[in-house]
Amino acid sequence: MTRPHRRRPEACPPTLHERTSPSSLAVVPSLPMKPPSYCAGGWEQRWHPLLREWVVFSAHRQNRPWTGEQVATSASGQSDYDPECYLCPGNTRVSALKNQNYQGVYVFDNDRPSISFDAPTDLSPPTGLYRNKPATGLTRVLCYSPLHNLTMAELDTAQVVDVVREWQNQTRLLGEMPGITSVTIFENKGEICGMSNPHPHGQIYATNFVYKTVESHLQAAEEHHAQTGRILFQDILAAELEDATRIVAQNDTMVAFVPYFARFSYEIYIAPKRSVAHITALNEQEATDLATLLHEVLVRLDNLWSMPFPYLLMLQQAPLDGAEYPLFHFHIALYPPLRAPELRKYVAAHEIGGGNFLADTMPEVKAAELRATSTTHYTQR
Ligand SMILES: [Zn+2]
Repeated sequence: MTRPHRRRPEACPPTLHERTSPSSLAVVPSLPMKPPSYCAGGWEQRWHPLLREWVVFSAHRQNRPWTGEQVATSASGQSDYDPECYLCPGNTRVSALKNQNYQGVYVFDNDRPSISFDAPTDLSPPTGLYRNKPATGLTRVLCYSPLHNLTMAELDTAQVVDVVREWQNQTRLLGEMPGITSVTIFENKGEICGMSNPHPHGQIYATNFVYKTVESHLQAAEEHHAQTGRILFQDILAAELEDATRIVAQNDTMVAFVPYFARFSYEIYIAPKRSVAHITALNEQEATDLATLLHEVLVRLDNLWSMPFPYLLMLQQAPLDGAEYPLFHFHIALYPPLRAPELRKYVAAHEIGGGNFLADTMPEVKAAELRATSTTHYTQR
């Protein structure tokens, strides 16, 4: 049987000498002088230490012919106020409640919640081995800005700081609520991510259950600690900082990187350098640094193809059930669905049915692309 020839996955990241933009040189972390090992191939499995599963990399496929659906990438051209928008200041929502004429961030209970304390708790037991239990809690909407046509990337950094502070406030408030064991904060940005309204906003789920990813991270952290005596995420940070090829940006207390085991092309973790279990444990400087770095990453993503970059954003934080979680490391995870302009990553049958993601690109290449982008939003140049 003939083994297939290995092909280079994509262009390897440019060396420092190959970069021509003085503005990008100023923010590029130093890269190793030797050619990175991933440049030799692009077909491999990488261990995802937080989910404890293998991710299959097949990066040579990125440039394969594609005749399927293409994603529209043009900007929407919205005005800054929409009288029909249920999130704009002063407008009346479906519940007949009226939004305040808010100036900054604005939070309200979701009018059509997917999780509610009104959910039935007297459930009929299923047959045989099946199990059920109540799913209760509450959901909130957090508007980032009164302006209808801005994304988080287009806000001032000070406004993103306000968003981060509100994430802290809501985690604290909802985490203390009886019957709540988890506060999950997320944003679906872009129509291809299921965003129903372009007004810049995210959502908050306070639930009586803990999400599977958090449970998986916890179990992996506990197993790693039992084996090594160390915090798993600190070892991930140490490996990323030592290698440096996947670092997108960093400041005094935060680091943003495309993880070694990234399942999506532009998957990015933004994490504090100090281990904390919840966003509420970040001090004032760390919260500001988190907002600053998140904003920079979102600007770089938008600048990649000069378009509002769609993404799923999720705050990964430990349960809020009264227990201490010293091994859990809070971070923000971004899962953008696009792998190229107008091309989305589809999760295929062998990934859903088989249980292992297949990545179309190499994280080192994607991180280098992001480092080479400007930190000034393309709409402001
Ligand atoms: Zn609006």
